[in-house]
Order: sequence, then structure tokens, then C-alpha cells
Amino acid sequence: MTTIDPRRAIPRTDALLAEPPFVAAAATLGRATVRTAVNRAQDRARRGEIPPGDVAATALAGLPKRASSLTAVLNATGVVIHTNIGRAPLSPSAVEAVVDAAGHVDVEMDLTSGARGRRGAGALAALREAVPDAGDALVVNNGAAALVLATTALAAGAEVIVSRGEMIEIGDGFRLPDLITSTGARLREVGTTNRTHVRDYLEAISPDTGCILKAHPSNFRVDGFTTAVGYEELRGAVRPDGSPVPLVADIGSGLLAPDPLLPDEPDASTALRHGATIVTASGDKLLGGPQAGLALGAAEIVETLRRHPLARALRIDKLTIAALEATLRGPTPPATRALHASAVELRPRTQALAAALGRGVVAVEGRVGGGGAPGVPLPGWAVEVPVEVVERLRTPPAGTPAVLARVDDGRGLIDLRCIPADRDADVGAAVRAALGDVPDVPGDGAGSGEGLPS
Ligand SMILES: *Cc1c(COP(=O)(O)O)cnc(C)c1O
Repeated sequence: MTTIDPRRAIPRTDALLAEPPFVAAAATLGRATVRTAVNRAQDRARRGEIPPGDVAATALAGLPKRASSLTAVLNATGVVIHTNIGRAPLSPSAVEAVVDAAGHVDVEMDLTSGARGRRGAGALAALREAVPDAGDALVVNNGAAALVLATTALAAGAEVIVSRGEMIEIGDGFRLPDLITSTGARLREVGTTNRTHVRDYLEAISPDTGCILKAHPSNFRVDGFTTAVGYEELRGAVRPDGSPVPLVADIGSGLLAPDPLLPDEPDASTALRHGATIVTASGDKLLGGPQAGLALGAAEIVETLRRHPLARALRIDKLTIAALEATLRGPTPPATRALHASAVELRPRTQALAAALGRGVVAVEGRVGGGGAPGVPLPGWAVEVPVEVVERLRTPPAGTPAVLARVDDGRGLIDLRCIPADRDADVGAAVRAALGDVPDVPGDGAGSGEGLPS
């Protein structure tokens, strides 16, 4: 009598990889990933954990859905610029531009002449059109890079004069003073935490002055007995030899023009008009575009930045260039829409979702986020859910989108402010699945008004 070792029935790697479902998976995930999943399933069969006949199905079940491990998230937090989920979402036009630029693209070539062109000329032209007060523009990897480049090019081996009221930490432990001194510039701190006067700056100017930096303390506010110096008061500052001292304005959030909703948020146009030589800002905060760092201002200083060797190390890629131009020339970006969504506009959508889920609506305040405009509440509404649902919404079963909800005062809140209106139904489906109770009659989206506070 012979016994057949069941392990001999385990299908061979090459045979499995040649089967259509594995060939199809390899086309999106790569052969190495598929082979690893096959080998893992074979190992499990060898250890007797699964029958040999289950190897193929187990391997397929173990495959990732996509080649990237990043998971799309629906932002139901009501926080418009949420750094942990990638700050500003791109507009459909910007997404299309990114897809187009993913292949070969004329990012540094003039197709008419075939000669080398200025990298990202279209995006730079769009920036100059959006900010006519800027003589020229440069785009680098992010806001911090723009600031580092400006201080390096203008003040390496020299002094950067900065107010003690603007020695900020921008998040994740990164501190502006450290960033500046890392460039080889020396900090010349002036004034106090709450008050800095124009004479503090002027008295600090010496032959060693590289530039004056005004950084917007975007993520906190000092109230009470305070004085800060405006750009206009520093315009025209000169060194003892009469040479002008460049004024770098780090405005942070990337507003190109004033936004009446955010009166305390500086914008590039106003800063330049009031005397800033160079404005630095982020592309993916209130500008609503891709991660990028903008440097806008006097043409000869922008040229100094562009020619600095560090600029090459901070260069942005073609996908960012494409997304930035499409953000500037295309429709209102989603972040701007979310910021300006009114309580009146959000109410019927929230009511409809609440009615479909059989839950109540509460009045809430959204936030700008991204370290911007901390004192500005954004009145709106949210559907209240049990707090334990929030975790389930983040890690849903396959086929359901991940939803990031807010936890406030022991409640879970679903805020539609940052959800594109055509995704409300997806949010509803995800919440219904997380609640675990499938209603008898599926909601038809018609708001009943039940549960709304008066
Ligand atoms: C956000 C911010 C930065 C950093 O910009 P990143 O694009 O995150 O690098 C620098 N300065 C200020 C004032 C900011 O608000």
C-alpha cells in the first residue's frame, strides 16, 4: 500500500502564474508581488494549514488590491486642510492634468522649435497672472523648501532678522528657527513674544544683514497687549551702505488674493503690494493645489533663487507642475469650495444623510486646519453616530470607502463639508455598513428634517 504525500498535490509556482487570474493580477501588481503571494499560500499548504486545492484561491485572496498601498479616504472631519490625509484634494481638472503628465510630456521642451524650454513655464505664467504684483515666480517642493531657498540665497553666512513673536513651530516638530539656521544663516531675534516694533528691526540692521523675515504665525494667535510690524513699515529698509534689505514674507497658507472669510490670513498680492520683496507659501493649503512651495516677487531676487544650486535639489516634478497649473487655471478647487460651504448649503445634504441613516443632526463648527486661521469657525452640520463607529469607518471591509469622521465630546460626527456632493451616497453606504444595521427601507436621500435642531 502506498501513501501519497498530500504536499505533492500542491500546485507548482510556474503553473499557477500561467493561469489567467494570476496573469491578470501580475499585469497590475507585478510578477514579483504575485509570486510572493503564491509562495506564501504554498508554504501554508506545506504546513498543512490549508488543503493543496486551496492554494490558488488563498494566493489570490492574499493579493493587494492595487500596486500602491495608499488608501483613498473620504474626509468627513469638517477640517478643510487635514495634513494627515494629504491636505488639499485636487480638482478634477488637476487630476486629469496629473494623469496626462504621467507619461512623456513637454515639461521642459518647446514642441514648436524642439529646443529646451523653461521647466513648467505654463504653471509659472499662471502664477504671474494670478499675482500681477509679482515680477516673477518660482515653484519648489514645498513651503518649507521655498523658505529655506530664500533664506539660503539671501542670507547664508549672514543674518536673518526675525521677530520673537514669529519663532513658530510649523508641525511635526519642525521649527522655523531651526530651518533657517540649517541653511547657514544666523538668526537675529528682535522684539518680544507679544510686541515687536519697527525700531527693533531697524536697529538690528547691520552690514551682516541678509534679509528680514516676516513669518505668519498661522497656527496660533496671541491676543491682548500685542504689536506686530506690517510689511509697509519695513519697506525701504537699507543697510548702512544704502543697499536695500530684502523682506521675505512667509505667508504659509498660499492665499494669492484676500479672502473675506479669513480677514487675518495674509495673501501674496497684498504682501507684495505692501512691501514684501519675496513671498513664500505652500501650494496644498488654501491655494487648494498639489504639495508645492511658491516664491513670488521681485524678478531679480527670484532669479537669484532660481540660480542657486540648492534650487535644483528642491525642484518639483512634472506631476506637481501639471496639477498646479490646472489648479490655477481650472475650476474652484475642492478646498476652496469646502472652506466656503455655508451652513445653509450643508443643511439639506446633512438632513438627507441623517434621514437615510435614521440618525440625528447636530450643529457643528468645521475648521480651516493645516495650521491655518485657528480662530475662524466654519458653521455647519453633522450626523451624529456612536463613537465606536468612527474606528470602523476608518478600516472598512473591502469594497467600502474609508471615511474619516470626527470625534467630539464622546460623539462621532459625520460632517459633509469636505465631501464632494456626488459622494454623499458613498458616505451613507459606509456609515450604514459601519453601524451594522441595514434599514428595512433603504433611504432615498430625501431629507425629512427630523432630528434637526431649530
Ligand atoms: C505650512 C507652513 C509652512 C510650511 O509649508 P509646507 O508646505 O508644509 O512645507 C511654513 N510657514 C508657514 C507660516 C506655514 O503655515
